[in-house]
Amino acid sequence: ISFDQLGLIPALLDAISARGFETPTPIQAEMIPFLLTEQRDVTGLAQTGTGKTAAFGLPLLQNIDLSSRTTQALILTPTRELGLQVSREIAEYGANLPSLRTTAVYGGAPFGAQIRDLKAGPHIITATPGRLKDLLDKGIADLSALRFLVLDEADQMLDMGFKDELDAILAAANPERRTLLFSATMPPEVARIAATYMTDPHEIVS
Ligand code: AMP
Repeated sequence: ISFDQLGLIPALLDAISARGFETPTPIQAEMIPFLLTEQRDVTGLAQTGTGKTAAFGLPLLQNIDLSSRTTQALILTPTRELGLQVSREIAEYGANLPSLRTTAVYGGAPFGAQIRDLKAGPHIITATPGRLKDLLDKGIADLSALRFLVLDEADQMLDMGFKDELDAILAAANPERRTLLFSATMPPEVARIAATYMTDPHEIVS
């Protein structure tokens, strides 16, 4: 199977070639067509290194309405390092989408620049849970128009003690969104998040 059989638009296929990817990884081959054609929630049992970022990032980019100034996708990651990496990767795949705006917010950095970036109305936000919760409490982040919410490394986020922040963020987000959950393991706490905040998720194991 090749990338041009997955239903992706030319702007994204060009970015994939520019990145040097030749064939989709198994999780990409399975998840990209599914996310583009089915309006379902998805759980992915996947380790890092499987190509999961592109597996959710490419369909998400294809579904962004660039003419709207609303935040349509939120990606939650356990650490600042992973968040920055995911945000950079999403921006690279979206390099050919005119006027796409993405930003990353994370703890351990001043609020000022992050508040300014959020006020510019990014289409896609990558965030660590603690900082995003603080920004929601300040009334800065607006998740009411969200169409995709991605929990990346959900087991790590719960291990790091972000349970209350995740509950607050998931409860505040547009209920009409689709939720995608990625985790290397499926302990009871992750299963609880899926059961509470997802609707009939399709399960993909990579
Ligand atoms: P991830 O599991 O999303 O963290 O991706 C792991 C690494 O694999 C990253 O460095 C990606 O840039 C790379 N990668 C993702 N998809 C592909 C692909 N289809 N072909 C080659 N490398 C890839």
